[in-house]
Amino acid sequence: MKTGFEFNTLTEFTDYFKDEETCRKHFAAIRFRNGEYCPHCGHTTIYTFAGGKRYRCAKCKQDFTIKTGTVFGESKLPIRKWFIAIYLLSTTSKGISSVQLAKHVGVTQKTGWFMDHRIRKAMRENKGQLFGTVEVDETFVGGLARNMHKSKREKLNGSGAVGKTVVMGMVERNGRVVAGVVPDTRRDTLQSKIYKHVEPGSAVITDALNAYNGLNSHFAHEAIDHAVCFGKGQLHTNSIESFWALFKRGYHGIYHQMSRKHMQRYLEEYSFRFNRRTQRMQCVWSDVVASITETTQLPYKELIA
Ligand SMILES: [Zn+2]
Repeated sequence: MKTGFEFNTLTEFTDYFKDEETCRKHFAAIRFRNGEYCPHCGHTTIYTFAGGKRYRCAKCKQDFTIKTGTVFGESKLPIRKWFIAIYLLSTTSKGISSVQLAKHVGVTQKTGWFMDHRIRKAMRENKGQLFGTVEVDETFVGGLARNMHKSKREKLNGSGAVGKTVVMGMVERNGRVVAGVVPDTRRDTLQSKIYKHVEPGSAVITDALNAYNGLNSHFAHEAIDHAVCFGKGQLHTNSIESFWALFKRGYHGIYHQMSRKHMQRYLEEYSFRFNRRTQRMQCVWSDVVASITETTQLPYKELIA
């Protein structure tokens, strides 16, 4: 990547990315950081047309731009607008709504929403299992039952979920978080997630929910009964609770109505920022852009389905 690239404020950021050409060059440097390649066939000998805007593959002879095959994909939007949108989404701790995003970037609300979801998809984590001391917790998000029609409310009360979405999170002490939507709080559901995301032998701390019984076979499991002992020494779930607090503040204050369908992506967005909370802004931003170059397109049809 180009040296001298450094920013701590939005002003410094937009000063650096002053025009589309600077943005295109920067994006090319990130996309081809491990060498140039053709997005159609993967061949590594490509020709650049004069002006630098288009490339041609030496093997399959197809033309492409630096955006071809990335989530910027077929959009006609300037890279500069994408870069600013990524800045707004990845460097603000609570996130912003797609409506605000559209206003700041200068696109229609529909386009803002589309960019928002594509960037969020690039903010998806895919790293190894958590290890060490891992706090595990489940919580309920959303479902404003009081705003519902009475008949619907009564129907939901019977199911016990009252229209809320169950989300589950796991966090390493002073480390990474993994969070996602789960269908229910049954033992099989919760424990299969723990087996998937936590390295065997780790110390797993949960609340006293029966669904966590039996984890002792693979983990050093400790359950906290909040009614009896709250925050006793190292035995606490403060880290995951602070993550939920952050997420719920965003939910109520910024996004208002986070649909169940999109909640997984919002959780991934929050996790992404949470996991980079001690990193410098430009590292976080660069991480998202690098991910953009690797993420396949998210068609509009899939978003609204
Ligand atoms: Zn090719």
